[in-house]
Amino acid sequence: MFRNFKTVSRFIFGRGCFAQLSDILAEQRKDRGFMVFLVDDVFMETPLKDRIPVSTEDLLIWVNVDHEPTTRYVDDLTHQVKGFKDDHLPDGVIGIGGGSTMDLAKAVSLMLTNPGSSADYQGWDLIKNPAVFHVGIPTLSGTGAEVSRTAVLSGPEKKLGLNSDYTVFDQVVLDPELIAGVPGNQHFYTGMDCYIHCVESLTGTYLNAFSQAHGEKAIQLCQEVFLEGGPDSDDKLMMASYMGGMSIAYSQVGICHALSYGLAFVRGIHHGIGNCLAFDCLEEYYPEGVREFHRMMEKHRIVLSRKGLENVGSEEVEKMIDVALMLDPLWENALGADWKQKMPREKVRELYEDILGQG
Ligand code: NAD
Ligand code: ZN
Repeated sequence: MFRNFKTVSRFIFGRGCFAQLSDILAEQRKDRGFMVFLVDDVFMETPLKDRIPVSTEDLLIWVNVDHEPTTRYVDDLTHQVKGFKDDHLPDGVIGIGGGSTMDLAKAVSLMLTNPGSSADYQGWDLIKNPAVFHVGIPTLSGTGAEVSRTAVLSGPEKKLGLNSDYTVFDQVVLDPELIAGVPGNQHFYTGMDCYIHCVESLTGTYLNAFSQAHGEKAIQLCQEVFLEGGPDSDDKLMMASYMGGMSIAYSQVGICHALSYGLAFVRGIHHGIGNCLAFDCLEEYYPEGVREFHRMMEKHRIVLSRKGLENVGSEEVEKMIDVALMLDPLWENALGADWKQKMPREKVRELYEDILGQG
């Protein structure tokens, strides 16, 4: 079966295009309606704060993403939004921030129209009702969350996204000026998320011309950004993130992401750094990609930190393996239909021991 997949309905791209957000939202505003802005609290004391077109009717919530989004946080935010005007739904939910904030915006827009807890919908196509109109505005590039059909959440049992056609943003605002102030390490880790999406897609068994076309352009842009640099690097990284996201939308990620999910679930390791730690140990599976990744690390003087991964016990390692092995499509993409023979549990344990420096 071929996937008939949904994409973002509208994009605006260009330096300074954030200024048009007010006009974009005006088209969606209804009589006595309101908008909800979920904004990364890193911007609380910055000039961006005064550029957000919040009207007197609207609700602005500063979200904290020190920890990656949980189903609990999404449920609390949804409750807060529902309570704002006696259960009236907002005309739109706008997420301004990195992958975490965009995922929060997607998830809240879905949970406003779907009953129960967001944990009930972790999986594929479990969402029944269309979301409230929702807008994604990245301030950090690489995850591809701006184009994907998932909102990744850690729940009581698993780290798994709300994957559905309704999850996809209705509008995305891509303004390269917004990613200018990202601290170096974070810029690298999130950028490498995109690079790794491309490597995993381009070397996977699910590869097809659609994914290849997007993946090849995205990886080329990553190489320009992280090996050459230049004044338009932010524009390029923003486009790489978008195209890397499109590439995996029609293929899949692979071993690195499966392992990174285990690190995130058990020890809360953030996606970007978790991917880098895992990818660093995967030369056997992605030889060219890992060697180039090492050149990029060298150029940007990145030393990977294992903060948060101290004294991981054997039970925790087993849980990491459980979480990683739950993600069948990722392994199948990487290794083929007979992946279970090629990747027995002991082999996954060895990879984790390597990542944790216990090998
Ligand atoms: P993030 O959103 O978690 O943010 C990382 C840090 O950067 C935070 O401290 C944040 O406050 C800060 N930050 C964001 N923008 C900034 C700016 N312009 N200047 C300074 N600091 C800024 O990071 P991320 O790597 O973009 O996203 C990771 C999250 O995305 C994870 O939760 C992961 O699960 C999710 N993800 C989602 C998808 C998807 O398709 N939905 C894909 C990959 C990853
Ligand atoms: Zn990723």
